Amino acid sequence: MKCHNRNNNTVSKLLECVDADGAFEHLEALQAIADENGGNRAAGLPGYDASVEYVASTLEDYGWDVTIEEFPFKYVGPSELEQLTPVNAVYETGPFTGTGYGEVTGTVIPVDVNLVGDRASTSGCEAADFAGLDFSGASDIALIQRGSCAFADKAINAEAAGAEAVIIFNQGNTPEREELIVGTLGGDDVVGIPVVGASFAQGEALAQQGSTARVMVPQPEDRPQKNVIAELPGRNEDNIVMAGAHLDSVQAGPGINDNGSGSAALLEVAERLRKLKPQNTVRLAWWGAEESGLIGSEQYVASLSQVERSHIALYLNFDMVASPNYIYMIYDGDQSGFEAPVAVPEGSVQIEDLFESYFTSVGQPYDDAEFSGRSDYQAFIENDIPAGGLFTGAEVVKNEEQEAIWGGVAGEAFDQCYHQACDDIENVDLDALDVNVDAIALAVLAYSYSTESVNGVPGKPVRGGLNLPAPAGPEMTWSAGGGGYHHDHEPTDLD
Ligand SMILES: [Zn+2]
Repeated sequence: MKCHNRNNNTVSKLLECVDADGAFEHLEALQAIADENGGNRAAGLPGYDASVEYVASTLEDYGWDVTIEEFPFKYVGPSELEQLTPVNAVYETGPFTGTGYGEVTGTVIPVDVNLVGDRASTSGCEAADFAGLDFSGASDIALIQRGSCAFADKAINAEAAGAEAVIIFNQGNTPEREELIVGTLGGDDVVGIPVVGASFAQGEALAQQGSTARVMVPQPEDRPQKNVIAELPGRNEDNIVMAGAHLDSVQAGPGINDNGSGSAALLEVAERLRKLKPQNTVRLAWWGAEESGLIGSEQYVASLSQVERSHIALYLNFDMVASPNYIYMIYDGDQSGFEAPVAVPEGSVQIEDLFESYFTSVGQPYDDAEFSGRSDYQAFIENDIPAGGLFTGAEVVKNEEQEAIWGGVAGEAFDQCYHQACDDIENVDLDALDVNVDAIALAVLAYSYSTESVNGVPGKPVRGGLNLPAPAGPEMTWSAGGGGYHHDHEPTDLD
């Protein structure tokens, strides 16, 4: 009760009250929402609307000023690929970005595929690949193998040859090119016919004599989505500390680590800060449609005036903070581990330093996560707002050195259920959640007093002091791919 009723305005009071159990209750609520809504909480689907209602009503109970902001969104339903003959099977698939729409049931026509030996092929890259093939029918499906040229060239050539749909399957020439491939044609509406992906094994099955199939890519529908914004007004309303997490899941699963974890951690912090009378305004955000391309956060930042943007002192992002095979990572604002592929706003280094000092203070090893812009902080850094955040890893595989430092299992992904149905309530590590929810609470509290270290705006000293040591330094520097965010990172194909 003391945690609920008192003003947790010092680091020690706040961290005494913030914990993984509180965040876990919110994760259970999000799991229940997914269970009641077809197993996911994805943008455009009822599980997301229910997530918004849960977060907004919880924050209102805590006494925060809550607004729900709507933005336009094109919902794309699941695509389908079914082989009808000579075998009948439903295959996992997805639409290439830039695809056309519609449903085609017809003959599968392999285009210069090479299923043996080195499996090298120009499949669909050259006009000659289509010579002698009969695409004159009304529902011909071109079967194309990955390799030799961009996916866009293959799809455009197939459409020009007269195909009504295209299946592009993985090349099968290396172990990395066996699984389902879903890439991009490099723009919107590149072709007018449906283009879907398949694995190499499915490509082999579809290449058999007498093969027929059904390909379906649904037309996008207008389904506006929502961000939840909650505010605790400060004495200085012109200096705003923002922290956010995306609330939507992918369509494939309930999204409990990605990103129920960040959403739940922010809710726990919101509960414990409810009595705070901050110096700087504290504004928390739960973003919609991140998994569809960072849409909610982009729409939010775009909706602000230049003056409103200039009042945002900094933005903290929390996307996947309880990975089951975790390591602790902090966005690498000083680029000590990764050269950033984006411009890093001044002040971001100081945010990284604060998190580093926190991990040092609790004796936890930490490492760098690439400051890639590939989550909801992108729109903020593009507007020169300093940013930072935490990450415990996605589909990248843990190495031996990391196992020695953080435990867990080398040779397995940080999150083996990343973007899958098994990203459920079992798919979180409570120790990681406990450490990170404290880190989040500490950073929000510290900056609610003063952001002077980040943007030069004077505030007030933290009551009771911050009492943090200098950063111990990252544990190790590890090779590319460490950022692990592939949300907006579909292959165009490079060879
Ligand atoms: Zn995410």
